[in-house]
Amino acid sequence: MSESTPSDRPILLEASGLKKYFPIQRGLFRRTVGYVRAVDGVDLAIHEGETLGLVGESGSGKTTVGRLILRALDVTAGTIRYRRDGRLIDLTALPRRALREYRREVSIIFQDPYSSLDPRMTVLDIVAEPLRIHGVKDEEEIRARVRELLQLVGLRVQHMNRYPYAFSGGQRQRIGIARALALRPRLIVCDEPVSALDVSIQAQVLNLLRALQRQFGMAYLFISHDLAVVSHVSSRVAVMYLGTIVETAPVEALYTEPRHPYTEALLSAIPRSDPDERRTRIVLPGDVPNPASPPPGCRFHPRCRYAREICRSEVPRLREIAPGRQVACHLAEELHLVGIQPPAAGGSGAEGRG
Ligand code: SF4
Repeated sequence: MSESTPSDRPILLEASGLKKYFPIQRGLFRRTVGYVRAVDGVDLAIHEGETLGLVGESGSGKTTVGRLILRALDVTAGTIRYRRDGRLIDLTALPRRALREYRREVSIIFQDPYSSLDPRMTVLDIVAEPLRIHGVKDEEEIRARVRELLQLVGLRVQHMNRYPYAFSGGQRQRIGIARALALRPRLIVCDEPVSALDVSIQAQVLNLLRALQRQFGMAYLFISHDLAVVSHVSSRVAVMYLGTIVETAPVEALYTEPRHPYTEALLSAIPRSDPDERRTRIVLPGDVPNPASPPPGCRFHPRCRYAREICRSEVPRLREIAPGRQVACHLAEELHLVGIQPPAAGGSGAEGRG
């Protein structure tokens, strides 16, 4: 995480030109009349042992990127390559059966600790489920592993025969984390893992995720609408808008010196932790456009206060403007955008929900 700056480690997973289009079907014969371009040409890399924050408003496509990386959805186009035995293998070219090994090595922590745990299953069965699916049969071994996992996430082993309703939201999320850890994954997709929790509990869960990463060295793709939360856990951040990535940077650089106008607007919406800090909130006009018919040129141009003629006709490429920094904006070199100090631990509150 931020103190370990592991982005110089080998790439664990790399997505290139990733697209996911969902058909829009109408009429008696369910004719396809268009496509929702939920993810429309995403490039990103996750390094071994790092946390990549993926942020954006509702409808930006960030959750769909997470599902594609888990291979829970088929890609429309593009590749996802994953490092195993020292080389990157193309997951999109593998048949579903051959993905079994990959599925042992990646897992997910869901947003909602209430709906993501089956109320009819005990904690033991919930946490043991991945072990059983992947062929562990010895019940003694399973119980021992579950005991160990519950201790790791700060839950009492005596509670393993209870049902989810007996636990608070924070405890349920710990159960979800224990389940995600069961197979010792190399990558965990954390899909808004604290956004359903009280602010006081959020910091505890974020600290737990950091401690587990230090202990086991797995990478996180940390998906959130909340830039304040993302700053506490990420080494790098990628900002999504309408199915594309508009900026990636190390966390400190992205917050203090944003290079894309959308990032600047998101940062301006974070509540101030220092009452003396003067800054003006940038209110974006209108809503996020319909991903079935995105605007031409720069997708952000109808809401961008810096837009010029070129922005309405030419698509800005995501390009490297400094080592480790990429931005998709025609004017990245000439704009002087306003950043903030990364929020202090425990705070949160940027708007939107994804
Ligand atoms: Fe704004 Fe133009 Fe940059 Fe898009 S390319 S973010 S419209 S300045």
